Amino acid sequence: MSAPRPEARKCAVCGKPQDNKFKPFCSKRCADVDLSRWLKGSYAIPAEEPPEFGEGEEG
Ligand SMILES: [Zn+2]
Repeated sequence: MSAPRPEARKCAVCGKPQDNKFKPFCSKRCADVDLSRWLKGSYAIPAEEPPEFGEGEEG
């Protein structure tokens, strides 16, 4: 039984049927949306301020 089964995969962003060119998304726009989300998450690191150098400690 090797019947081609249509993959009912949906775009992870908007839920529309995926496009072979933009898997796993339906369009480049959705791919960009997901990418920007990913980048934002990646950039969302805790801004830890560096320890200030002791002024007048030495010298
Ligand atoms: Zn989409």
